[in-house]
Amino acid sequence: MALYKTRAVVLKSINLSESDRLITFMTETQGKIKCVAKGARKIKNQFWGALEPMSLIHLIYFGKEHQSLFRLNHSDIIESFQTIRDDFNKLYTGVYFLDLTDAMILEGHQEKKIFNLLYQSLAALNQQTELESLRRLFEIRLLKLSGYEPQLEHCVICRSAPGNGMIPFNYAHNGILCSTCSNRARIDTQFSTGTRNYIKKLLDVEIKTCERLKFPKSQTDEIEKMTHRLVLSHLGRELKSYPFIKNMAELNI
Ligand SMILES: [Zn+2]
Repeated sequence: MALYKTRAVVLKSINLSESDRLITFMTETQGKIKCVAKGARKIKNQFWGALEPMSLIHLIYFGKEHQSLFRLNHSDIIESFQTIRDDFNKLYTGVYFLDLTDAMILEGHQEKKIFNLLYQSLAALNQQTELESLRRLFEIRLLKLSGYEPQLEHCVICRSAPGNGMIPFNYAHNGILCSTCSNRARIDTQFSTGTRNYIKKLLDVEIKTCERLKFPKSQTDEIEKMTHRLVLSHLGRELKSYPFIKNMAELNI
């Protein structure tokens, strides 16, 4: 048996029995893990409150190495992100971040950068009011960290520089095409150089300042379509929380 101590974000919490819960965490040092929390449904239990999805906590758990299910020992809340919980638009965006992380990241994938991305994005969501850049930033960076970064520098087939004008993109190859290769490979979508540069900025900018990235409304759809389609082709399915944030964005709530 080993005892693990780490910071973690609560991704998901489901009831297992009358008193127990099964909690999924994105931990700082051990990747995504699942723990059984015995007695967590009893209101006076010490775990209560620190196991709500989105909370950042100090987590102590134990179990055998390489097993898939652990036992929760102790959890202390560090940050509950209350501002996110109080605002529907932020709440749905936060839930989308959690869903996307849970769907895209496998257990045992120990990459501290994924925890940092999730934690810093929730902290930014707690502070920021313009959420569009942050949503797109989160999608594209999570794709990158799960090994699915699109090739935007040069043609994904022959490595030559893209031509002028609209840039063709192929989802199966996950990259842009030059004019020659676009005659052979399918063009799934096209976007402007401005959109390409914006996506590159999203990969580069400090998360807490991404709200300052302003881009023309005409590019919003191109970027959204691009990142969302990449997520879809990676996951093979739509996330339940996605239509909610899409509606919110369209209503401009
Ligand atoms: Zn080419």
